[in-house]
Formats: sequence, structure tokens, C-alpha cells
Amino acid sequence: MPAPLYELRGAAKFFQLGGATIRAVDGVDLTLDAEEFVAIEGPSGSGKTTLLQLLGALDKPSSGEVHFEGRDLVTLSDGELAELRLRSFGFIFQQFNLLSTLTALQNVEAGLAPLGIAAGELRERSLAMLAEVGLRDRSSHLPSQLSGGEQQRVAIARALSASPRVVLADEPTGNLDSRSGADIITLLTGLASKHGTTIIVATHDSELAAKAPRRLNMHDGLLVGDDNVKDARPNVKRKR
Ligand code: ADP
Ligand code: MG
Repeated sequence: MPAPLYELRGAAKFFQLGGATIRAVDGVDLTLDAEEFVAIEGPSGSGKTTLLQLLGALDKPSSGEVHFEGRDLVTLSDGELAELRLRSFGFIFQQFNLLSTLTALQNVEAGLAPLGIAAGELRERSLAMLAEVGLRDRSSHLPSQLSGGEQQRVAIARALSASPRVVLADEPTGNLDSRSGADIITLLTGLASKHGTTIIVATHDSELAAKAPRRLNMHDGLLVGDDNVKDARPNVKRKR
């Protein structure tokens, strides 16, 4: 049997702050399969962002294990982790994180550039990705000339441009009105299923989380709920 996409065993991240220990993620056991669409829910401060950072190899656990495609991320070199972030993971943030002096097209190109693709192909792939998010005719606009929803669509094009295995989105609709937010989730899930990409979305918005077939619930760094609509059995691990 192939290894699951992710396997976390006792994954924890603690921060030391003014003599106190903050248990941001406090021993999470979790298995995620490829092509899942998973929401991580929970109130502000429950550890959602920290968990995403462990999953995206942006941070290392204080203890425990985070296996991705069968490899424990803790054992990888910085170079191997950078390679994973570049090729295997795409990131989407609440604040879009576009470069303000670059056009929509250049923002997508900037995401692909480290892969060392020739300029012509870089442009072609970036334009094709912009077309997929419905922004082909906005390619020469600066972020300031785009609506919030359009900026997030550019960020989605950037995140998917390198054909990552996983897209990690942190409160992707947090800066959008509810209509644009719903559109973004529809777009993201449609593209992910077309490209066979796993999506993991952290959100405190339960309406958004309700769209995900699998909902994880965080509280005080603990994984307190795991509801999977594909799983007909009552979940015995649920503590809510
Ligand atoms: P969420 O995304 O659910 O709002 P976070 O993962 O951002 O939660 O934070 C979880 C807890 O860890 C919070 O109490 C937060 O203040 C704390 N925390 C997060 N990052 C740091 C850090 N770099 N240093 C100290 N404390 C942190
Ligand atoms: Mg957060």
C-alpha cells in the first residue's frame, strides 16, 4: 500500500514567550490522503496557522513527526525542504501576498521563476494559469487595480502554477465579502479536482468549512474533531 500523503504522529509546536510555554500545536495525530479537500476549523489562536506551517514545511515541529509522502520532514536538509516548498506545496494567504509593483502576470511568473523554466514557457504557463482563474484579460493589471477577489485569484494562479501536490490556504476568504469568498472556494475546489491537487484550508468561518468533505477541528492546539462525510462510521475519536 502506498504511504498516505501526510502522516502526523504527536506533532507539536511550542513557543517560549516571556517564560511561558505556548502550546500552539499540542500533539496532533493525523493521516491525510492525496486529493482530499480538508478544512481546519477553530477559533482564533487555536493553532490552525501553526499546523498549516508544519504541513507546508515552513516550520519544524518541536516534537513528534510530520511525514509527507513517506518522508519525515524533520530528517530533511534545508535544501530538500526548500525544494519541497517550491515543487510540492502552493501557499495562499489571507492578505493575498502579491508583489505590489508587479502585474498579475509577473506575480504568477515570479512564483514559477525559481523552477528555472525558459522565459517563453514561463510566460505561456503563467498566462494559461491566469486564464484558468478567469483573469486572462487582467494580466497587465497591478494588484492595486484589481478587486480583492481578483487579487486572490491571482494568488491562486500563482499557487497552482508549479502543479503542486498540495495547496495550503490560510484564511483565504478572510479579507473578502461573503460572495467573493464563496466564489474563491468554488474556484479553488474546481481547479484542485481538475488538477488532482490536495487542498487544506484553515478557516474560522464555519460556512466555508462546511463546503469541505472533511473538517478538522482545532482547540487550544489540540485536534478535537475529525468529521469526514465520506466516512459513514461514527467517529469514535471525536471528543466534542
Ligand atoms: P490560529 O491560526 O488558529 O489563529 P495560531 O497557529 O496562529 O492560531 O496560533 C496558536 C497559538 O500560538 C496562539 O496562542 C498564538 O498566539 C501562538 N503563536 C503563534 N505563533 C507564535 C510565535 N511565533 N511566537 C509565540 N507564540 C506564537
Ligand atoms: Mg491563523
